Amino acid sequence: MSNSPLFLLRKLFFHFYLKEKVEGRQSSIFFFITNHQNFVVTFVKIVKKKAIIMIEKQICRKCILPDGFLGVQLNLDGVCDFCADPNHKNNNWSRTIIDEKRRENSLSDWNMVVADMKKNHEKVKYDCVLGYSGGKDSTALLDHLVNNLGLTPLAVTSDTGFMTDIAKENIKDTLQQIQVDHVLIENAASTFIKLYKYHFLNHFSNETLLARYICDYCSDLIHSIVVKEAMKYKIPYVLFGYSPDQIFRYFYKMPQEEVIHHWKPEIITREPFKESDRRWYLTEEEISSGKIPRILLPYHVIPYREEDIINLVESKNYIKKGHADPLLTNCNVVHAATFYDFNRYGGILYAYQYAELVRQETESRKKWLRTLKIAAPLILENKFKEKEVTQFLEKIGVSQEVLLEQIHTQLEQDANREQIELNKDMFRKKRRKSIQHVIS
Ligand SMILES: [Zn+2]
Repeated sequence: MSNSPLFLLRKLFFHFYLKEKVEGRQSSIFFFITNHQNFVVTFVKIVKKKAIIMIEKQICRKCILPDGFLGVQLNLDGVCDFCADPNHKNNNWSRTIIDEKRRENSLSDWNMVVADMKKNHEKVKYDCVLGYSGGKDSTALLDHLVNNLGLTPLAVTSDTGFMTDIAKENIKDTLQQIQVDHVLIENAASTFIKLYKYHFLNHFSNETLLARYICDYCSDLIHSIVVKEAMKYKIPYVLFGYSPDQIFRYFYKMPQEEVIHHWKPEIITREPFKESDRRWYLTEEEISSGKIPRILLPYHVIPYREEDIINLVESKNYIKKGHADPLLTNCNVVHAATFYDFNRYGGILYAYQYAELVRQETESRKKWLRTLKIAAPLILENKFKEKEVTQFLEKIGVSQEVLLEQIHTQLEQDANREQIELNKDMFRKKRRKSIQHVIS
């Protein structure tokens, strides 16, 4: 209230009044000009400050999660549920805390695996399979396996049909310098397309982000394809370059029990899915053979710093400068799901991931807040990766209008609608100027 324009005008009036009384009429014109300028400057400052406070007030002061985003609440200190309680979880995120013992055990397991691979190195063609996406992490892991450990991995890439050109370029550049065999599997694209279409048109949850579903189902399929490739060559280890913050589902290893019982989704047994789609998942025979490789995530236990990874892949010219950004190499499905989620839930899955990184490294808050605030209004209006998202939707045969209509219908039935609209408004284009001011 004290910053309202009316209050300011009144203040200004009294200011002139007093000045005039004290210094007389001659100088009043001069005072009017200087004070008019002061007034404008002060007014602009206050409006900007209010915009900052309004935005900051709605975002957790320890991480970057907005208030009311899928049930996340800020307490009176402005701290969100995830920051206030280490055990807090919801469908989209749980803060997995790995105790020292488990970490140590996993690291010593990894050291034993490395020793085993080295011991058999001369006897086998490939020591392991590396799930290779062309992103910075799997590229750096490839370098580590070959150049630090002296191993021979078979790099396997499963193209979902939506790999970015940058990821493809990264793979080409890297393989020119690291000589390893590479298998690119492109035939599963039609199965991925069916899977995406199904989820985009059948997502009715009020609690779980579409990206959460898509990422899980999609990565289960990718993992299956890579594991099947390893089984073809009887390779005992499959490695993926998941970073230490990606521990929502797995820490260090993907248990066999999960592989056997949870990777193949129930929907795949029904229409529109056919036998030609099901063949990308592990068959009963493969499962009962008892020869499923161990699936490990080494970056969960060996040293990992994002800056070091980026420096490594850029300095060795595996990835061109600036092309290591996960936002560029992530497949476009995630961008489309993110567009859907922002409009449907007023927030995105990345926010959880970035928030977790901020909790691990407090000084990175500003950087991630900046990323979120720049990307958010663009994502909301499908201006971020617009071409790719539009192409994706075209390819799966779903229009943006149909999606927005579906979102609208579902929002009307969502008890959290008001909060969702509030959060969306916070990031909308009309606020972009003040948001950019906050972060600059
Ligand atoms: Zn928080």
